[in-house]
Amino acid sequence: MREELFRAEKYQVIGQLAASISHEIRNPLTTAQGFLQLMNRDNLTPAQLETYRNYAISGIEQANSIITDYLNYAKPAVELARPIHIQEEIDGIIPMMSPLCVISKIEVVIKHLSKQPIYVMGEAKKFQQCLLNIMKNAVESMPDGGVMTVTTWSDNEGVHIHVKDTGVGMSDYQIKRIGMPFYTTKEKGTGLGLMVVISLVKAMNGTISYYSRPDEGTTCVLKFKQLLL
Ligand code: ADP
Ligand code: MG
Repeated sequence: MREELFRAEKYQVIGQLAASISHEIRNPLTTAQGFLQLMNRDNLTPAQLETYRNYAISGIEQANSIITDYLNYAKPAVELARPIHIQEEIDGIIPMMSPLCVISKIEVVIKHLSKQPIYVMGEAKKFQQCLLNIMKNAVESMPDGGVMTVTTWSDNEGVHIHVKDTGVGMSDYQIKRIGMPFYTTKEKGTGLGLMVVISLVKAMNGTISYYSRPDEGTTCVLKFKQLLL
């Protein structure tokens, strides 16, 4: 199934989002608090102490990730748009992904099909953040290893970037929901990554679509207007 994502518009009321963010942050913090309180009990075994400590830490980490993702969405632009060299930018992002790829035994294949440098107008940091979020999802969909292929090219329709994985894929139900705030299928997910991606792509006047089937992997398709220098 194919789904083009532009849901960000529906969620532009940042204040409304802030209210639900507070709620989402409170949950893991309450969990952390509960486990820290348990640690005050007498006669705990070292194993119990360790379990409680780990739960408390992971609750705090979870709250922290939600705040980071939310701020990435809400914070105003500081950088100015300039020409971004697509192939160079993508080659620069890959090394940031490699620790995660090594751990999960994922092979990364980069295919720059156009010989000429391709440029789009945008803010390099936002472009990076956008691709990092998409690639991170691709990697996380392949917990037992696989291949992530990033393909770029330009033609008279514009600039194309495909991020393909051989991961778990998505059902039609899932694909309809991705990008909505807090929609996640991961134990440690925030469900804010794609919401951030959609708003970044929109800021660059691009489009994002997902093609996926369960067990057959997923392709994220990005399109931008080419800047001819
Ligand atoms: P998070 O990664 O924190 O769960 P995202 O907004 O980045 O939040 O993604 C939302 C959901 O979309 C994920 O939990 C997952 O179910 C689904 N998803 C996104 N990308 C992929 C992918 N490449 N393969 C399979 N599922 C994906
Ligand atoms: Mg994500």
